[in-house]
Amino acid sequence: MVRRRQQTRTSTKENERNTGQQGLVLAHFGQISLVEDAQGEVFRCVTRKKLPRTVCGDRVLWQANNPREGVIIDVLERQTTLVRPDHNNRLRPVAANLDQIVIVIATRPSFEYGMLDRYLVAAELIGATPLIVVNKSDLLDAQSRAKLQQRLGVYQALGYALVFTSTRTTDGLKDLHRHLKSHTSILVGLSGVGKSSLVQALLPETEIRTGSLSRVTGLGRHTTTATTLYHLPDGGDLIDSPGVRDFTLWPVPVETIASGFPEFSPYLGQCRFHNCRHLSEPGCAVQDAARKGLISERRLESYHELLESMDSR
Ligand code: GDP
Ligand code: ZN
Repeated sequence: MVRRRQQTRTSTKENERNTGQQGLVLAHFGQISLVEDAQGEVFRCVTRKKLPRTVCGDRVLWQANNPREGVIIDVLERQTTLVRPDHNNRLRPVAANLDQIVIVIATRPSFEYGMLDRYLVAAELIGATPLIVVNKSDLLDAQSRAKLQQRLGVYQALGYALVFTSTRTTDGLKDLHRHLKSHTSILVGLSGVGKSSLVQALLPETEIRTGSLSRVTGLGRHTTTATTLYHLPDGGDLIDSPGVRDFTLWPVPVETIASGFPEFSPYLGQCRFHNCRHLSEPGCAVQDAARKGLISERRLESYHELLESMDSR
């Protein structure tokens, strides 16, 4: 009460900033955001009008107005935003401030390198670190594992980390925990590669079974389908978003696609034509590099496929 009166007297934005406390949006549905305070308490919050819609992972300023509820008064600037086209092809943010995208692949269902590259480009364009996880390692004998390891060596050479995991044998799960430790990560990949199984293996059992969030909020089952941020027991946060687990790259300007391929960067700006699309133009430094083996032909092919897919939209 007292707080509210103070506020009406000095209701400039600056003063609201001073009175609000920082919080983290764990999940969002309808008009309600679940905001966690510095002590780990969770509050049901509405968002003040005129503010952008909050998404999972947003950092906000908010005020409590009773023991379990509050009002979001400001949404702090997002470091990264994961977007997804809605049914009208308009881009909608789904999660904010994630800094690592865990791309899960497996041999069953098998993956295509073009698809892996699309995910990698998306991660690069968002400004998040990609991590490649080959799940279901229990299905690989030593020889096929070595072969796959060798094929994926192209990616390790580019600086992308690679982890083999199995939710059956727990192979690699410690390693995966280590990679997740100081990051806010999201798992993406084709349906059936084992993302839900990995999420279950990574989160403490109680978190999933009882749904600690729904207990606090009384929002029940909704919490299991909404994009939700979980704290991992060994540190780090995991954003689980059933809706974006299998996302495709959103429409981006053609010039931008090349910047999603880090190995192209020494050659960009070196082509004869300043607007070179690195397709079959003469004097193209990127194609030249591929011919000399400095860029993988397969990655260049993925780039061409991405260009085509954008052109045909
Ligand atoms: P999602 O669609 O990516 O979320 O995949 P799920 O987690 O639902 O897993 C799909 C299927 O793969 C299920 O039948 C799982 O039991 C199975 N699966 C998940 N992880 C592994 C693994 O490490 N090894 C094997 N052999 N099967 C797995
Ligand atoms: Zn070029």
